[in-house]
Amino acid sequence: MKVSRFPLSTVKETPADAEIISHQLMMRAGMIRKIAAGLYSWQPLGLRVLRKAEAIVREEMNGAGALELLMPAVQPAELWQESGRWEQYGPELLRFTDRHNREFCIGPTHEEIITDLVRREVRSYKQLPLNYYQIQTKFRDEIRPRFGIMRAREFLMKDAYSFHIDKPSLDETYQQMYDTYTRIFTRLGLDFRAVRADSGSIGGALSHEFHVLADSGEDAIVFSSASGYAANLELAEALPPAGERPAPGKAMQTVDTPGVHSIEDVCKALDVNPEQTIKTLLVEGADGGVVALCLRGDHTLNEIKAEKLEQVAQPLTLASDEQIRAAAGCGAGSLGPVGVDIPVIADRAAAHLADFVCGANVDGQHLTGVNWGRDCPEPQVADIRNVVEGDPSPDGQGVAKIARGIEVGHVFQLGDKYSRAMKATVLDENGKEIIIQMGCYGIGVSRVIAAAIEQNHDEQGIRWPSALAPFQVALLGMNRKKSQRVREACDALYEEMLAAGLDVIFDDREVRPGVMFADMELIGIPHRVVIGEKNLDKGLVEYKSRRGGDNQDIARDGIIDFLT
Ligand code: ATP
Ligand code: MG
Ligand code: MG
Ligand code: MG
Repeated sequence: MKVSRFPLSTVKETPADAEIISHQLMMRAGMIRKIAAGLYSWQPLGLRVLRKAEAIVREEMNGAGALELLMPAVQPAELWQESGRWEQYGPELLRFTDRHNREFCIGPTHEEIITDLVRREVRSYKQLPLNYYQIQTKFRDEIRPRFGIMRAREFLMKDAYSFHIDKPSLDETYQQMYDTYTRIFTRLGLDFRAVRADSGSIGGALSHEFHVLADSGEDAIVFSSASGYAANLELAEALPPAGERPAPGKAMQTVDTPGVHSIEDVCKALDVNPEQTIKTLLVEGADGGVVALCLRGDHTLNEIKAEKLEQVAQPLTLASDEQIRAAAGCGAGSLGPVGVDIPVIADRAAAHLADFVCGANVDGQHLTGVNWGRDCPEPQVADIRNVVEGDPSPDGQGVAKIARGIEVGHVFQLGDKYSRAMKATVLDENGKEIIIQMGCYGIGVSRVIAAAIEQNHDEQGIRWPSALAPFQVALLGMNRKKSQRVREACDALYEEMLAAGLDVIFDDREVRPGVMFADMELIGIPHRVVIGEKNLDKGLVEYKSRRGGDNQDIARDGIIDFLT
């Protein structure tokens, strides 16, 4: 590519509203231009980088057997009403009506659309598991769009959704996606960390976020100095992996709640503010069995009158041991809207209650060890939001270390949150209708670009990891204007580089060398080759790596081998 055909729109001044370095450098490099709050155009230079990230994501997703599709950005309200999220989602969902007065939104995510698609396409267990993904523009009316494309309103996401007949199959794909994300972020050249996470308004049981470590990150992450434990500090429940006992934390008062039948009663017994959201509750059912109620994140107790319990917590027919443990507060953290079918699991739940800690999650707190009048350990609170560096690690092993992170990816086990509400079922091998289990997996493809710059820059500008660089090589000529020899030598080397398949940007402008150097450093091209009169006499060119090190003189005839 020649700069005469690929105009650079670099600027010297840092835009006043650009607070963090990636935003400043993307603006100065001319990669993006702001149209309105949280809305950006990607100029050709920026788009080349975005497409590189997209290609790696696509390659790895395809490699993992996921199938690419494309869904509409505009979504009908009916589907969101079916899932219940039309009411719950809040002002981040951009809603509007069409000319027929029908309600729509611009998709911030696509669980409803894909669930609708799959319930109509998939009939038999033989068609599962399936994993669909798309790379598509999302819109979220963020309350505070900032940091350029890092927290934009319109942004590019890779979102994948998997479908399963049972939990073991979901577990398998979840792990596979976790591994795929690890490969993607490694290939992108990022310093990242996977952490346990809250599943937020998307819902679900088990969830991990992938964070690029950077001081400008909006999230705080807590690590253990002694174990592999890592979690987002916004996580309300610091629960250890399923099957492990909760670690000792700060003590919570013992709450005695035998024979509690309604949420209000539980609430009173637990001394929980009814305005707060309760995510998981265990209630002793009228027949003496145990009902686990796992409420939608956004339901307040005021809304959930006892008589409405059934609507909120539908009976769960496929209660695996793990689900029961999770529901009992020993497992995987916050759950979607599920309940437990009393006759089916009463005995098994009781066994877990004797053995494990049961509990209730209120917003920001996990209360464990609630005394059900049975043999339960001492209650504990694991509110990790206030953990500071040097505290005991929430998992009880070593001390807590805190770092800042940028969330670039997020994987969730949704369970049956959407498939149950939207009646997405398949027939199992006995011809019995079963509710599909789902997972979902997002990557902020555009955010990744900003995150990469946060980790890769210096005084001069961006220092792209090779995988993301818009071009690999910058070819420059000294004094082109005056020297015909330099012009000819540049043209010839440029042609050779193209023929060798090098991704080269050739600065054929007649500007001062200082301007060319500054531009190529600002836009972050990994390798720079300079042709000058003096070196030509000696059959040499000058090479410099954007990653540092001195200028090197390299034989003109060996430069292509050197670069490839
Ligand atoms: P955040 O906590 O940063 O608001 P989120 O948890 O709301 O993100 P998810 O619903 O998990 O986001 O969406 C999947 C991915 O989409 C995120 O991990 C992130 O990389 C990206 N993403 C989310 N919101 C934005 C945004 N406003 N601008 C750019 N990327 C975003
Ligand atoms: Mg968000
Ligand atoms: Mg988040
Ligand atoms: Mg998230």
